[in-house]
Amino acid sequence: MLRFLYIILCMSFLSCRTNRPDFDAVSSFAYLKKQCDFGPRNPGSKGYNDCKAYLVEELRKTCDRVDLQNFTYTDKKDTNNKYHGTNIIASTNLDPKKKKRVLICAHWDTRPWADRDPNPANHETPILGANDGASGVAVILEIARLVKGQPLDIGVDFILFDLEDLGDHNYESRPDSLNPYCIGSEYFAKNNKTYFPTYAILLDMVGDKNLDLPIEQNSFAQAKEIVNKVWDAGKRLEKPAFRRAVENSVMDDHIPLLRIGIKAIDIIDFDYPDDSNRYHHALADIPENCSPESLKQVGDVLLEVLYTE
Ligand code: ZN
Repeated sequence: MLRFLYIILCMSFLSCRTNRPDFDAVSSFAYLKKQCDFGPRNPGSKGYNDCKAYLVEELRKTCDRVDLQNFTYTDKKDTNNKYHGTNIIASTNLDPKKKKRVLICAHWDTRPWADRDPNPANHETPILGANDGASGVAVILEIARLVKGQPLDIGVDFILFDLEDLGDHNYESRPDSLNPYCIGSEYFAKNNKTYFPTYAILLDMVGDKNLDLPIEQNSFAQAKEIVNKVWDAGKRLEKPAFRRAVENSVMDDHIPLLRIGIKAIDIIDFDYPDDSNRYHHALADIPENCSPESLKQVGDVLLEVLYTE
């Protein structure tokens, strides 16, 4: 009888718990702050170079392999101006027998201009990018640390894309003469012949204190099953930011991935801090307007998804 009871207890324990590690909000927020301590990370700046070295060093501590994909982009408005970009690509669990691989990605560069700042005098000043840049990377660095401590059956890869945020605001109306967004992920997708993960999850602007994550339209249209997997996990874990409503359509680093056939979704809070969006591409994009609890909502959901694969 006692043995029977023991088996029942074990079964119920196993059925309601995965071996998912708990996402450490404090550790992740420290990664966010550390990136901001380098200053703005717009391409070519001191903060950019210092932060790149730091990110590579951190990922080398936790991943099996880290590669740098370097590329050059010529400014369409000033062809003498060349940007040197680097996508940082890190992998865990490279055993070729592990066929299932999941990609988690974010952009690590920050916008060179606060061109949506309420004060026009700031429009040429680089932003700090606590949310738009550092937040997605902070979640990734923490997940890489936790996955190392508690290995998974699947492979997980991380890409920190560069030159996401160089786009000109009216690019859609004049694509031949203005610079686009997502230059690094576009370069990656164009040159990718061999890497096709089971699916990809992009994180962008996930640190807003007032976190609200409706479903992005392109993700829903082209990778609905991955959207369902993630938002179902959000519901299971009772994370209120994961709101089941399809809202904005966003041009982001998941679009080039979708174009080459990778099932990619974007987890993004486009309203920072609310629908006025006044902290976006503005000098107010600072750690004080982000929160560890927001990073934790996203991090716990991602860990739940990874550890239930
Ligand atoms: Zn941006």
